Amino acid sequence: MTAAPDGKLILIVEDNEKNLKLARDVLQFSGFQTLEAGTGEAAVGIARQQHPDLILMDIELPGIDGITALQQLRADVETARIPIVALTASAMTTDRARFDSAGFDGYISKPIDIKAFPGQVRAHCERARRGRA
Ligand code: MN
Repeated sequence: MTAAPDGKLILIVEDNEKNLKLARDVLQFSGFQTLEAGTGEAAVGIARQQHPDLILMDIELPGIDGITALQQLRADVETARIPIVALTASAMTTDRARFDSAGFDGYISKPIDIKAFPGQVRAHCERARRGRA
């Protein structure tokens, strides 16, 4: 596994402790820096304060869901340009058109593939950089 050369800061939004810990450990092992939120409300607050390079957003969350959190982030000039990737349970993959139209920059299926995950996150960071250059 190659390290992320520039230590990109990734905000992981996930209410399932096990899923959150796994994603965090895999990303940190690969050289990413991480932030964590267990609710959409917390994610919006942390994103405003910390300006992560990328947000990984669970859809089903207590309180506001991941789509509502995305809409709030897009509506705020402080966070509007942060790339946001949906973390979607495989049962929800049929909803991908809905995620696309909601404005997500992409999606990664859960459960995550720990071998592929760092590369998937890195690719989304790269794509965002090119798209916003
Ligand atoms: Mn969830």
